[in-house]
Amino acid sequence: MKKNPTKLTISHGVIEPLSKVDFHKDVLGITRRLLISPEDTPEAPLHIAVHEVRVDSANRGKCHYAEDHKHDSDEINIVWSERGKLQYRFVLDGKETIVESPAIVVIPAGITHHAEALSGEGTFTCILLNAQHQHT
Ligand SMILES: [Zn+2]
Repeated sequence: MKKNPTKLTISHGVIEPLSKVDFHKDVLGITRRLLISPEDTPEAPLHIAVHEVRVDSANRGKCHYAEDHKHDSDEINIVWSERGKLQYRFVLDGKETIVESPAIVVIPAGITHHAEALSGEGTFTCILLNAQHQHT
């Protein structure tokens, strides 16, 4: 497949509900900002969304916002926090892994996965390396 040349692009993104993403639902304490995607930037070379996450007594145990899914693109997740720790639970092909910031999780195409915020505050960044990805 011929790839379009990358264009100089500056985007501040747009806040969108998690429920706009297939296999995801809205939960208290997580704000999703779609930074770049072919939906709004046709020449986007990849897809990046940042989730601002805060888990506290109001939403602890209620941040399971994604159901199992997979992509035909590799996915990179960055779990980050300025202070304190952001803790996430990943389920990758049925196997649970607990990850604490700072961390990067590289999920190869075809691996069934979902993730859930467990505690702390920070950002969870999702990068799909192929902007034209499909998910099932
Ligand atoms: Zn995914």
